[in-house]
Amino acid sequence: MSDIFRPLTLDSRADPLYNLYVRSGTPLATTPQHSAPVAVLLSQGDEVVTGQTVDTNAAWLAERLVDLGFDVRRHVTVGDRMVDLVVALTELSSTADVVIGTGGLGPTMDDLTASACATAFGRPLELDPDALAFLEALFARWGRPMADSNRKQAYLPQGSTRLDNARGTAPGFAFEHGRAWLAFLPGVPHEMKAMFDGLVVPSLTQRFALTPGRLVSLRTTGVGESVLQDRIGAFEHDGVVIGTRAMSGECLVKLRFDASVDPSTVTALTQDVADRIGSPVYAIDGLDAPGGTLPQVVGRALLARGATLAVAESCTGGHLSALFTSVPGSSAWFLEGVVTYANASKVARLGVPEPLIATHGAVSEPVARAMAEGVRASANTTYGIGVTGIAGPDGGTTDKPVGTVHLALATPHGTHHHLLRLFGDRGRIQTYAAHGALDLLRRHLHGVT
Ligand code: ATP
Ligand code: MG
Repeated sequence: MSDIFRPLTLDSRADPLYNLYVRSGTPLATTPQHSAPVAVLLSQGDEVVTGQTVDTNAAWLAERLVDLGFDVRRHVTVGDRMVDLVVALTELSSTADVVIGTGGLGPTMDDLTASACATAFGRPLELDPDALAFLEALFARWGRPMADSNRKQAYLPQGSTRLDNARGTAPGFAFEHGRAWLAFLPGVPHEMKAMFDGLVVPSLTQRFALTPGRLVSLRTTGVGESVLQDRIGAFEHDGVVIGTRAMSGECLVKLRFDASVDPSTVTALTQDVADRIGSPVYAIDGLDAPGGTLPQVVGRALLARGATLAVAESCTGGHLSALFTSVPGSSAWFLEGVVTYANASKVARLGVPEPLIATHGAVSEPVARAMAEGVRASANTTYGIGVTGIAGPDGGTTDKPVGTVHLALATPHGTHHHLLRLFGDRGRIQTYAAHGALDLLRRHLHGVT
């Protein structure tokens, strides 16, 4: 049955939100109750609700909390309005075991979090002498007078635990209210992350008996989400949630296993999904085998056979070389990358015969082959890659529309060619072309077609 027709379950009735918003009498199905503690996130700030700042804090925190074993249910974002904050705090604290708030701890008028907590939870703000001393010492060290507005940051909701911020002026704080434990962190991402890992995580693991699940990611390239879905087909197992995520040039298939699933079942089910997908799977993260990105996987394979690589790029403009050199230690196998953009450059640097370009055009199979062979010969490497294509938006013809990309791989035993027909804007075509070239080499090295 499709998700959209899934009825409310008994679990729904146990959920405080159900009691708040759903009328009684709604038919319920029976499923076991969730056991993981519920976490929700509150992001504060006009700049976040208006879209000027992308809420990376909530995404980062959610991933961390899920890894720790929380059931992350909601992200709520409110602007700099007192009443909105108080309402959100009141509601979230009555529906979750953990509330993590970010932003609004600073010295300015729009930093309302502490005041909103004071109002929502009846905890008047009190001066924390240690926080004040910390701020005074900080400003003394900077040799700057402390503004009165900074003094405001030393006032915390009554009875809360201060969370020191070693990287900025805004201390955070935490307290309990009813079923919930609430922690508030600054909005600045690097301050927030350091405080979460250093101060919040120890409190969470102490407070809750967490049973973290296990995330296994199958990394695939060369096929889209719908093809993956078709290949995987029906997949339903207790304690496993499957999902796909498209990223630039590749797709992740994520398997999230409950802690109750034993390791051999994790391995068997992962293998089953990998078999259904087939050769597009280039690595698996979260199992014992080494995972990694496509350039890392290719780099490992080259290193293992003591092979070297040189690259001649046209339409990807250096993108492919950048991917290879993103791997630490790539100098052991990546010897050279050249961007031969003009026809003359292909001729002069790679020895591509001029008549070949005149007859077939720069974007053609013979030219891609000649580029790969040329760069392999001049750099004296085991492998050479040639990439030539039309990234657009102009330059396409009926024969060779925008997105036509010829890839070639020169090896000690001959040259392979692969034609890509891509769509999308210039950036997307360049990204996918570079990944296509990586995959051509990966498939050759792993002996898959
Ligand atoms: P400060 O003392 O710097 O004022 P603060 O706790 O008051 O800290 P905010 O003023 O809300 O934090 O945000 C400070 C900066 O942090 C913002 O300008 C923005 O760049 C970044 N930021 C805030 N919230 C988020 C968020 N949810 N995701 C990513 N970045 C954020
Ligand atoms: Mg601020």
